[in-house]
Amino acid sequence: MGSEIAGYAGDPEFTGRTALVTGAASGIGASVAYLLALGGAHVVVADIDDLGAARTAARINDAGGRARAMPVDVARADSVEALVAATVEAYGGLHLAVNNAGVAGPVAELADYPLDAWARVLGVDLDGVFHGMRYQIPAILDHGDGGAIVNVSSVHGVVGTDRAAPYVAAKHAVVGLTRCAALEYADRGIRVNAVAPGCVDTPLLDVFDDDAKAVMRAQHPLDRFARPPEIAELVAFLLSDRASFLTGGTYVADGGLSAR
Ligand code: NAD
Repeated sequence: MGSEIAGYAGDPEFTGRTALVTGAASGIGASVAYLLALGGAHVVVADIDDLGAARTAARINDAGGRARAMPVDVARADSVEALVAATVEAYGGLHLAVNNAGVAGPVAELADYPLDAWARVLGVDLDGVFHGMRYQIPAILDHGDGGAIVNVSSVHGVVGTDRAAPYVAAKHAVVGLTRCAALEYADRGIRVNAVAPGCVDTPLLDVFDDDAKAVMRAQHPLDRFARPPEIAELVAFLLSDRASFLTGGTYVADGGLSAR
């Protein structure tokens, strides 16, 4: 995880806040969890991968942060409800949330797309974000101090790509869901934004072979994939008070891909 945890300015701007990060066993989520903990937050490292979540939490705690691993399957509403309840029970409230857990799904054209894979990708990448906000928002409202949520979409929530129909559909829907939540809760002190990364060097890209990855890399004018901390920096900024006038937006971090 060395490359996932580098690159933080280190201001303790999240002291006294509790942050919940889904999909934090690996990749972008692990990097976000680390960054928020270094900023002083109590962080719940939530993932369906128990061992990976425990590893992320241990690394944060070893580095002097405060983190606790908790299990969740974001595709199941009851699991997310239990996670949020356990977070409030452990830390007394919730202030910040990052709905980041995601899967890529198989690479196939739309008419060949396996029906069970369609349901699985939508279940994690879209339902998972809805379930997150469905239970996080009441917990944030409960303490009356407001808060912020970031949903992890994708550059493929802003532009299309081939052979990834459910992923593209889910990520576009996350942009819409983010706008709805931002509009509904702005007057109650909750800001909600989305990030739209280009390709990031994480296990999510393991579904692609080396040739496909070379083509994908070349689609980015910066001619490389992002490192997880480069996305985590944006997420942490959006959660911070430095982003106090930002809500309802989708912020692209794609090495120039969508500028073409
Ligand atoms: P990753 O595979 O490293 O991490 C995803 C994490 O989500 C894993 O730890 C996995 O166990 C967890 N997860 C999967 N299903 C889950 C479920 N049902 N419940 C709880 N946790 C679950 O991938 P990543 O690249 O860090 O992906 C994080 C987010 O970033 C995803 O939403 C992904 O779509 C998005 N994203 C990734 C890229 C990229 O190129 N890697 C680009 C744009 C957006």
